[in-house]
Amino acid sequence: MSEKTPIPLGSNFIRAIVEKDLAEQKFNLKKWAGSPGDALHQAAGHIDSAKIRTRFPPEPNGYLHIGHAKSIFLNFGLARDYGGICHLRFDDTNPEKESQEYVDSISDAVQWLGFGWQNGNENNLYFASDYFDEMYRAAVGLIEAGLAYVDAQSADEMRINRGTLTEAGKDSPFRNRSIAENLNLFNEMRDGKHADGSLILRAKIDMASPNINMRDPAIYRIRRAHHHNTGDKWCIYPMYTFAHPIEDALEMITHSICTLEFEDQRPFYDWLLDNLAKAPTEANGESKLGLIATPVPHQYEFSRLNLTYVVLSKRKLIDLVEQKYVSGWDDPRLPTLAGARRRGYVAEGFKLFTDRIGVSKADSWIDYSTLEDCMREVLNESAGRRIAVLDPIKLVIENYEAGKVEDCFAPNHPQQPELGKRIVPLTKELWIEREDFMEVPSKGFFRLMQGGLVRLRYGYVVKCTGFEKDAAGNVTMVTCEYLPDTKSGTAGADAIKVKGNIHWVSAAHAYECEVRLYDRLFSAAHPGEAGTDYLTQLNQNSITKITAQLEPSLKNAKPEDRFQFERHGYFVADKKDSVAGKPLFNRTVTLRDAWQK
Ligand code: ATP
Ligand code: MG
Repeated sequence: MSEKTPIPLGSNFIRAIVEKDLAEQKFNLKKWAGSPGDALHQAAGHIDSAKIRTRFPPEPNGYLHIGHAKSIFLNFGLARDYGGICHLRFDDTNPEKESQEYVDSISDAVQWLGFGWQNGNENNLYFASDYFDEMYRAAVGLIEAGLAYVDAQSADEMRINRGTLTEAGKDSPFRNRSIAENLNLFNEMRDGKHADGSLILRAKIDMASPNINMRDPAIYRIRRAHHHNTGDKWCIYPMYTFAHPIEDALEMITHSICTLEFEDQRPFYDWLLDNLAKAPTEANGESKLGLIATPVPHQYEFSRLNLTYVVLSKRKLIDLVEQKYVSGWDDPRLPTLAGARRRGYVAEGFKLFTDRIGVSKADSWIDYSTLEDCMREVLNESAGRRIAVLDPIKLVIENYEAGKVEDCFAPNHPQQPELGKRIVPLTKELWIEREDFMEVPSKGFFRLMQGGLVRLRYGYVVKCTGFEKDAAGNVTMVTCEYLPDTKSGTAGADAIKVKGNIHWVSAAHAYECEVRLYDRLFSAAHPGEAGTDYLTQLNQNSITKITAQLEPSLKNAKPEDRFQFERHGYFVADKKDSVAGKPLFNRTVTLRDAWQK
């Protein structure tokens, strides 16, 4: 077994922050009423038994990819390691492009990675669209506090007046409307009295701020669109940057972890939550509580995962699927978690991978081979060994009795003898790998050659006597004679030393089936780099389908059963195209070391 050093807690900067916060007892008075809600709701709850709360907040507008796995292990992992709870929150405030299929696939992927949202009798699965009423109240609260206004500038005017990185922006002519006027207009927006895009609610912060995100950002827009959860109830929708902090606050999140591109949004995140925690709204007015409870959540950013030879962006993945460059979201070549699973990747491999790459603020590319190494390490220990001939030619043992069947014993796992051995039948006609015979052997070739000796793995030593070729010069059959006293596991086995050792499958017993060999989806390490169209960089040979001869036991493999095919790599019974008694196999990953002997 390989040595695995556990990653010490506190070994990344976010863990260090959590540990410091806990040491300072920052959340000891934090209340939680058992469900998300405003300050009044939470105030009626108990001291939260969860020491921290994190969340994984996917937008259900696509399937999750390997980058999301990093975020899942980070958020759920922090909660698990520090006595906290991690929420699964569907960030579905954008009415377009979201669907139930995506919600289901995301839930599946999170569970497949080993996490869940049922904590005791608390179900921490949430939909941001359930908070539209609170978001609306938050917007009203800001208007009442003089911190938001309805702007009637056109999109172009707003863009021009926003200024640039070096130039301050200009105040909107509508910036100084009265609170009453703003409230009235915002209600009219909600009631459908204005056309899409004609009015927009903006936070009133500072048009001269050096941070463009603080120049009166838009917070609510008019958009007549059907929403998968709320139907046609709303024709105004909150902007993501407004909605997300409120979602975190209603769920009493302590550490809101996101990728680095949101770093510039943090001042607005803080501005918004500080003001909402202060501003008493009509609903909460009498209790003198702000709209949201304290302590308010804080945002922390880490660098997103970039992986060579794939694209980790839902938009690009959607292109690949919709334009049919791949067979679907679960195509085993795709870096989606659904694809990775079908490819035979394992959740423990992703855990090892995320531990190994760590969490930091430095942007970098991780080589795809790092992920493959992690899968190999996990599969090497967990996958049983089987025999498969991927490029078969016949080997006939001339001095072996026709019709005779002899049991040979193959270990299920060389490093785990407790897993026992299985019987593989030996007969006169076998399938062997084409590359295990050479008419004109190259230097260092120790397998079958005219007159040479080789061991049939778990069987006898044989001597090659001849071969046949077809008209095109391809070898079609090899003949040999076996040495009867040399069977593996018998006293005579060591009497003759041979350098080569080849695998084989009895032709009469073999399970013939389709095996799919996968290669990288893109031929470029950084697809789309320097303005290149990533769709032109697809590897044209990313899939090869072959007909292989497998040892008979593999006929009984169930979907998602994983094996090491000796000398070839790790394979999985395809979960989609396999039928009972007729599994198909996908190559997950090759063996690290090419077969040398
Ligand atoms: P994409 O850019 O692929 O559309 P996204 O960030 O829009 O991804 P979300 O559904 O918003 O997708 O992501 C949910 C969570 O996963 C977010 O917190 C996001 O930061 C995180 N995440 C997304 N991509 C990566 C990545 N490549 N590495 C690490 N975390 C990621
Ligand atoms: Mg997103």
